[in-house]
Amino acid sequence: MIPRMTPAEYMQRRAAALSLQLPDVTEIVSEVRRDGDAALVRLAAKYDGADLTAIGVEVARSEMEQAFTCADRNLLRSIEHAADNVRDYHSKQVGQSWECTSSDGARLGYRLEPIERVGIYVPGGTAPYPSTVVMTAVPAKVAGVREVIMCTPPGRSGAVNQLILAAAVLCGVSRVFRAGGAGAIAAMAYGAGCVPRVDKIVGPGNAFVTAAKRLVWGDVGIDMLAGPSEVLIIADSSANPALVAADLIAQAEHDPLASAVLVSVSRSLADRVEAEISSQLPLRSRRAVIRESLSRWGAIVEVDSVEDAISLANQASAEHVQIMVDNPRQAASSIRSAGTVFVGEYTPTPIGDYMAGPNHVLPTMGSARHRGSLSAGDFLRPINTVECTAESLLVASADAIMLARAEGLDGHAASMEMRASAVQNAGRFGSVLRSAKAVSLMQQAQPAHRVQSVQQVISPIVVKLDANESPLDIPEALKADIVREITKMPFNRYPCADLEQDVANAFASEADVDADRVTLGAGSDEIIQMTMLALRPRIDHVTIMPPTFTVYRRIAEAVGLPVHEIPLSEGPSGGFGIDMDALERELRCDDALVFICNPNNPTGDLFTRGIREIVACARAYVVVDEAYHEFCGDTLITEVPGRSGRLMITRTLSKAFGLAGLRAGFAVAGPLMTQLLQSVRLPYNCSTLSLVAARQALARPDLKRSAVNLILKERAHVAAGLSELGLSHGALNANFLFVRCPVPGDEIRRRLMEREVLVRCIEDAPDFFRVTIGAPWENSTFLNALGAVLEEVEVR
Ligand code: PMP
Repeated sequence: MIPRMTPAEYMQRRAAALSLQLPDVTEIVSEVRRDGDAALVRLAAKYDGADLTAIGVEVARSEMEQAFTCADRNLLRSIEHAADNVRDYHSKQVGQSWECTSSDGARLGYRLEPIERVGIYVPGGTAPYPSTVVMTAVPAKVAGVREVIMCTPPGRSGAVNQLILAAAVLCGVSRVFRAGGAGAIAAMAYGAGCVPRVDKIVGPGNAFVTAAKRLVWGDVGIDMLAGPSEVLIIADSSANPALVAADLIAQAEHDPLASAVLVSVSRSLADRVEAEISSQLPLRSRRAVIRESLSRWGAIVEVDSVEDAISLANQASAEHVQIMVDNPRQAASSIRSAGTVFVGEYTPTPIGDYMAGPNHVLPTMGSARHRGSLSAGDFLRPINTVECTAESLLVASADAIMLARAEGLDGHAASMEMRASAVQNAGRFGSVLRSAKAVSLMQQAQPAHRVQSVQQVISPIVVKLDANESPLDIPEALKADIVREITKMPFNRYPCADLEQDVANAFASEADVDADRVTLGAGSDEIIQMTMLALRPRIDHVTIMPPTFTVYRRIAEAVGLPVHEIPLSEGPSGGFGIDMDALERELRCDDALVFICNPNNPTGDLFTRGIREIVACARAYVVVDEAYHEFCGDTLITEVPGRSGRLMITRTLSKAFGLAGLRAGFAVAGPLMTQLLQSVRLPYNCSTLSLVAARQALARPDLKRSAVNLILKERAHVAAGLSELGLSHGALNANFLFVRCPVPGDEIRRRLMEREVLVRCIEDAPDFFRVTIGAPWENSTFLNALGAVLEEVEVR
C-alpha cells in the first residue's frame, strides 16, 4: 500500500507535486468585496449548509463566554497547558528594538512594533482544531498585537465548534465570525459588514483558503501558502518499527493529500515498518484517508547511510522531519532545511502539533528553503528611524548628493544641499539644526546635583553612563507578562503575603540559601537604611572604606551615627587595597557596623580573598554589599550566618537583572540579623508591582545571563578603548570602569556632557571618573567623545 522508491524517484514525484494546483476563487473574493455581510450569508448557505439570516455572521460575545464556561474542564486545562508552552517558546522569539550611532554620527533606530489587527483562520469541517487557535492567537498576543479576530466555518446549524470558541476566549481572541473558505479570507482582507479589515491573515486552510490568500496578498499580509502536511522520517535499524509505522499513519490521517515518507537506512526496518502499517491500519478510525494518503503520497525510500538520508531530507526541505537513528541529536544538527526537526524516539510529530511549544503552522512543500515556522516575529514590523545631527548630515550628504545627481534626481540633491550649506555657514558648533533646548539644558546641568533632572528631560539624546544601570531594558515580552500579571492583581489590597513569600523563595534559590534568611527591600538602598535603623541602638559608629558607595555615609549621617573612615589606598600597580590592620581592628569592635562594598563601587576592586576569614568571625556587624556580584561571580554569601552570626550580604535586581526602576533588592543574613532587619522593615515595603516584576525576572535566569554576557563583552571593549586612548582603568569586576584621568574628573565629566555623554565623578577620588558599561553604541559614542575631550585638554 505504501510505495517503495529510490531517492531520485521520490524527488521527482515531489517536484511534480510542488506547483500548487489551486482553484479559481476570484468570483468569491469579488462577491464578498461587493456585497459584504450578505455575501457571507449566501456563501455559508452554499458551502456550509448553514442559514445565518437570523443569527448573523458574528458570534455573540455571550456565546463565546458560554462556550468557555461550559467546556470540559479537563480539555480546557489541556489547551491551557499547550498555550502556556507556546507562550513560553514564542516569548523567546521576540527580538529587541535598538538604537545606534552610525559611523557618520547619525542616530539610527530599529523599533519593533506589533501589527495592529490580525485575523486568524481556523478550519472547521471534519477535524476542527482548537490547537490551531493556540498556535496562531498566542504568538500574536506575545508579540503585542492589539486585536486578534477569527473566522471559522459554521456547522449546518450555524453554530461554531464550541471547543474552538472556548480556545478563542482562552487565547485572547476578541471577536469570532462564522465564515469559512475563500469568503472568510476576502472578508478579513477587505472588511465585509461586521467583519473588520485586518492587517495580516494567518492560519492554515484548504485549497480554497490558500487560493484566496494568494489572491489577496499585497492588500493584506499573509503568513504563508500552506500545502498539504508532510513528514519525512529518517530511521535506522535502532528504530522501533511499530513506532515508525504509527508516526507515518498519524501524518497520513490528516488528509488524503498528506505525505508520510520513511527514509530508511535499513532494508529489514523498511520491511518491518511496512508489515506494521498493515497491522495497525485497521485499528484507525480514519483508515480510508490514511490508505489513500499512503498509497498516493507516502513512500519508503532506502538509502545507504544516515548521511545520505540527511542529504535527501535537506533537498526535500520537508515540513516535519523526524530523526529515529542511533545518535539522533548529532544527525539533527546536520539538518539545514526543515519546518521542525523532531529528535529521537520519544519525539513524535504529534507532540509538536499540540504541546511542545514550537509552532505547528509550518512551511510545506519545500518552502522551508526560504522561510521558517510561524513565529512571534510574523506579528512584528520593524520601523527604521534616522536622526541626523548637523555634523552627520554634512558627512553623509557629500556622497548622497553625488549619488542623487548620478540618478538624475536633482530635487533629492537640493533637499540635502540646502541643509548642508546652512550647516557650513553656521559653523560647526553654532549649528542651526542642533537642538537649542538640549544645549541650554546641558549648560545649566553642570552642578552635579542637577544632573538627575536634566537626564530626565533630555534622556533621548544623552548617553547615560553615570548610574551603573543596565543598558538593556528587559524584553518587551517579559514586560507584557508582568503587565498581564499585575493587571490581574487587586490594587486596593496591600501586597499579599504569598507573593512576598514567592519572591523571598525566588531570591533564596537565586542566592542558593534558605528562604528564612532572606529579607526583601525596595532596592538594596533600603536594606542599607534598614540595617542602620535596626542597629542604631546597638552600635556607636559606622565604618566605611572610601572611595566607596556614597549612600553608606549619607544614611549614617541622616540617622545620626558617626562615620569612621578607613580610606582605601592605591597600590603601586593600580587598584585600591584595604588597610588590613585598620579593618581587622574595626572588625574586633562589637559596637561597629562595617560596610564592605565587594566589588567596590566606584573603584571596581574585589576584596573577597583577603577578607573572607576575618569577616566570617568578626565581632562587629558587617554588611557585604554585593550589588555587582553577577559581573564577577565572587561572593561571601557562603559565610552567612558565619561564626559570629553578624554578617549580612545585600544583593539587588537593579544591575544584572535590569530592573533598577522597579526597586527590588534583598538581604541574606543569619537569624539574629534577619530578626533585627524584620523589626524595622515597614509592612509592605515592596509594592505589588515590584514583587510581580521580581518574581517574573527571577524566573528567567537566561535573560540575566545573556545581559551579563553582553556587558562583560562590552566591558572588555571599553577597557581596550581606554587603553588605546592612553588611560588606565581599575579592575574589571563590575558593570563600570574607574578611569584615571589627566585633568580633574569633574572637568572630563563636564566636557563629555557637552558631547551628550554622562559619566560620574567621585568626590573622594578627584583624579578619576566612573563610567558605566553601556550598550555597544553608547560605548562607542563615549569612547569617541572621550577621544575628542582628551585632544581638547591636551591642546590647552
Ligand atoms: N550598593 C551599591 C554598591 C550600589 O552601587 C548601588 C546602586 N548604585 C546600590 C547598592 C543600590 O542599589 P539598589 O538599586 O538595589 O537600591
